[in-house]
Amino acid sequence: MTLGIFRRGLFMLLVALGLTRGDLVKPSKLVNCICENPHCKKPVCQGAWCTVVLVREQGRHPQVSRGCGSQNQELCLGRPTEFVNHHCCYRSFCNQNVSLRLEEEPKGDTHLPLILGPILALLVLVALGALGLWHVRRRQEKQRGLHSDLGESSLILKASDQGDSMLGDFLDSDCTTGSGSGLPFLVQRTVARQVALVECVGKGRYGEVWRGSWHGESVAVKIFSSRDEQSWFRETEIYNTVLLRHDNILGFIASDMTSRNSSTQLWLITHYHEHGSLYDFLQRQTLEPQLALRLAVSAACGLAHLHVEIFGTQGKPAIAHRDLKSRNVLVKSNLQCCIADLGLAVMHSQSSDYLDIGNNPRVGTKRYMAPEVLDEQIRTDCFESYKWTDIWAFGLVLWEIARRTIINGIVEDYRPPFYDMVPNDPSFEDMKKVVCVDQQTPTIPNRLAADPVLSGLAQMMRECWYPNPTARLTALRIKKTLQKLSHNPEKPKGIH
Ligand code: ADP
Ligand code: MG
Repeated sequence: MTLGIFRRGLFMLLVALGLTRGDLVKPSKLVNCICENPHCKKPVCQGAWCTVVLVREQGRHPQVSRGCGSQNQELCLGRPTEFVNHHCCYRSFCNQNVSLRLEEEPKGDTHLPLILGPILALLVLVALGALGLWHVRRRQEKQRGLHSDLGESSLILKASDQGDSMLGDFLDSDCTTGSGSGLPFLVQRTVARQVALVECVGKGRYGEVWRGSWHGESVAVKIFSSRDEQSWFRETEIYNTVLLRHDNILGFIASDMTSRNSSTQLWLITHYHEHGSLYDFLQRQTLEPQLALRLAVSAACGLAHLHVEIFGTQGKPAIAHRDLKSRNVLVKSNLQCCIADLGLAVMHSQSSDYLDIGNNPRVGTKRYMAPEVLDEQIRTDCFESYKWTDIWAFGLVLWEIARRTIINGIVEDYRPPFYDMVPNDPSFEDMKKVVCVDQQTPTIPNRLAADPVLSGLAQMMRECWYPNPTARLTALRIKKTLQKLSHNPEKPKGIH
């Protein structure tokens, strides 16, 4: 308990020390720009300025991305490197005929790989051996207390000079904050300041998400609007105080707060997943039952990991998400899901007897609110209540997946939950009428009964939507049942 409080106190102090902040965002005139990147909805976008970014991902050819810059970002800071070069301009369509170069582009000699291949293989072996030795020595140093934050910060800089792909190594190795999921604070800051924004991939209710480039690796940068600083604070706090590394929870890299040009920038840097959110994915894709199940099982694993309290030094408190929805679940390249957006999460530790609700004025997404939230009967002092609301929302996500699953050649278009019962952007009252007064739940498609896997999924949804929250399935039960379905789809009876 004392350790937990100490960590959180330390975190707040460090964040506070990082604050030299202004409040106002400078207004600026909008210009039209050429939009040429995978996330453009139209060939022209509007922004505060136009951008051209040339970026080389490791192992790929350089690619140009043209688009719009938002009002309060300083996209064009930084020198060109071998991985990225930017150009920003402020007149309409000024990003049309700009061509950029990288510092040292690799030479395109086709014979070179043949000659260099064996030499490189040898070098890699030697390097691996050296890395192993270095790891052992570092561990010994650490035990002797010689390893400081600053040491690691310079280490990362050295690594970046060589252009190695070090992010994964750093995050997977033992050089994190120790208590939380991320790098030490100074290293987080260093990494954040080395990220170049490439293209805007999504706008949420409270900010924007950009694809960024860090020494040739794609990262996602969530830029919070200043009115949602509590979500940034909460998410940063949770990632930095809880050990949250899990395949099905969005991987955290760094968090940063800067004050430039009298505006505050709040960044959260995480792994980048090019399929985007489950919501985006389901718009584009129809699913075979096995893929539907893979998405569902992996999301359930993520939720079960959040919900469980793990005891011991490598443990974690129980966490309830409170804003679960298909937009907050991302689809990874291996077609497993991971859960994102912990800005509203609450934490509970039975062993050290604390309940941490945070103080974010934001509320969950109305469409996904459980009946007890809508009729305000939820017991806000009881942690379990929050987990039960997550299960309600998880059932809705399963329903979204199920509609996009092909059974006997039939599939439905993507629709959000309650699409046929409430208007777009429903009000609290709209949702309350449907969910509490009329006690409606989304219609489960009949064709699901024809498939052993999907009929199991249908039954599971019903058990997520009991009006009595305590009767709902737990995340662990959902995970186990889905796993059973995926190993043994002929016997969907294992629901109970
Ligand atoms: P919302 O408020 O709708 O949940 P977010 O700000 O969390 O929005 O994200 C907006 C969109 O950005 C998401 O719907 C998704 O398409 C995209 N996105 C968010 N995080 C990532 C990521 N780590 N990798 C790739 N795309 C992402
Ligand atoms: Mg979100």
